[in-house]
Amino acid sequence: MTIVSDTVVVRNAEVSGERMDVRIHDGTIVAIEPPTGRRTGADEIDAAGGALICGLHDHHIHLMALAAARNSLVVDPTFEADLRTAAAMSGTGTWIRAVGYHESVTGHLDRHWLDAVAPENPVRVQHRSGAMWVLNSLALAAVGVESTTGQLFGMDELLRSRIPGTVLDLDGIGRELAGYGVTGVTDLTPTTSMSDVERLADLVTGAGFPVDVMVTGAPHLPSHVDIGIAFGPAKIVVRDDELPTIDDLVASFLVARRHGRSVAVHCVTRIGLVLALAAWREVGAKTGDRIEHAAVVPSEMLAELRTMGLTVVTQPSFVCERGDTYLAEVDAQDLDGLWRCGSLLNAGISVGASTDAPYGSADPWHSIATAAKRLTSSGVPIGPDERISPERALMMFQSDATDPGGPARSVALGRVARLCLLDSPLSEVLRAPSSRHVVGTVGRAGFSLRAEPER
Ligand SMILES: [Zn+2]
Repeated sequence: MTIVSDTVVVRNAEVSGERMDVRIHDGTIVAIEPPTGRRTGADEIDAAGGALICGLHDHHIHLMALAAARNSLVVDPTFEADLRTAAAMSGTGTWIRAVGYHESVTGHLDRHWLDAVAPENPVRVQHRSGAMWVLNSLALAAVGVESTTGQLFGMDELLRSRIPGTVLDLDGIGRELAGYGVTGVTDLTPTTSMSDVERLADLVTGAGFPVDVMVTGAPHLPSHVDIGIAFGPAKIVVRDDELPTIDDLVASFLVARRHGRSVAVHCVTRIGLVLALAAWREVGAKTGDRIEHAAVVPSEMLAELRTMGLTVVTQPSFVCERGDTYLAEVDAQDLDGLWRCGSLLNAGISVGASTDAPYGSADPWHSIATAAKRLTSSGVPIGPDERISPERALMMFQSDATDPGGPARSVALGRVARLCLLDSPLSEVLRAPSSRHVVGTVGRAGFSLRAEPER
């Protein structure tokens, strides 16, 4: 349910540890005062002592891919049966999309495997990393690409241009995110096409969309053009399947700089980070520059990250969601530097948090819980010294969109209302962080109460 009236009063809320009534008028916090018990005539919500905190900002997400993932099969241990069912139900020739493939879950997947299970439908399956698609023979023929294995790297834009589009329910994604208390996101899709960015802008600037969106995109995009949403840093991907030269990377950094943009550089391996730092040494770091993921940071590089003033935007939940795979596959020398968090903060490096959904769970509270526990899904600790308090992890989701590693925003008079209402005092919620404590969200579309608070 969304309350669209001009004035809403949240009564008896815990704000910074004290009971307060908070009045929101035209999207701005206009009063924070001790409860009077007097009725005001405005729409009122009784928080009954639940905390009213700043809305969460997910500093790295992929909105269109998340909407597409909600329309897709998930590659899990029952994938073979699920794909057979989907093929039988969708009729010959209909495209089937699946996401989340990883060798550790289903074993090796290629064109021939897919042909054997679904010979009469074009099928495309995305690797969990987002870096590869596997297509069956019908799908390869339909897009006009030849490949013996069907495994295609870095061909997202070509595939998208040649595969019939489906209608994506971005409004549903907006509602889902608001249900987690998320009031803002930064979309880190490395799109090279301005029309893709404009399409996204169209979908998220409607009056009912509850979440503020910042976009990034490739360095050359005309980020000065007003499309109704803000441009953040330019996204640059250091591809591990095809490492760029330092000259290539420097050239991309310089294109961003010519457009006055900072850079957000995707680095998930030791060599990727080495290359990115070499490019930064050459071009110089700029306020707003960030490393996305920083999945592996050898300890000898911490000082340089700090000196350059780079911000790390991390995904705490991967320790849980992918940790067991890392334990099996990652070089022993890299395990200690994996998905660092606490040691980055201790080294004086700014850290912002994000989910990387759909490649991780879109629920930031899952990330907050994992940042504090650092357990894989089977319960094995990874880098226990990297644990941070759930309070700190929450704050890493409450920093401003333009400064992911900066201070948490506050619930204060005169501020634009981007708020999250919880069912209990904050200290109680953070004892076992979970989005089921979210009661409602005040975002760009007004106050929305969660549909099923008892989920
Ligand atoms: Zn990403």
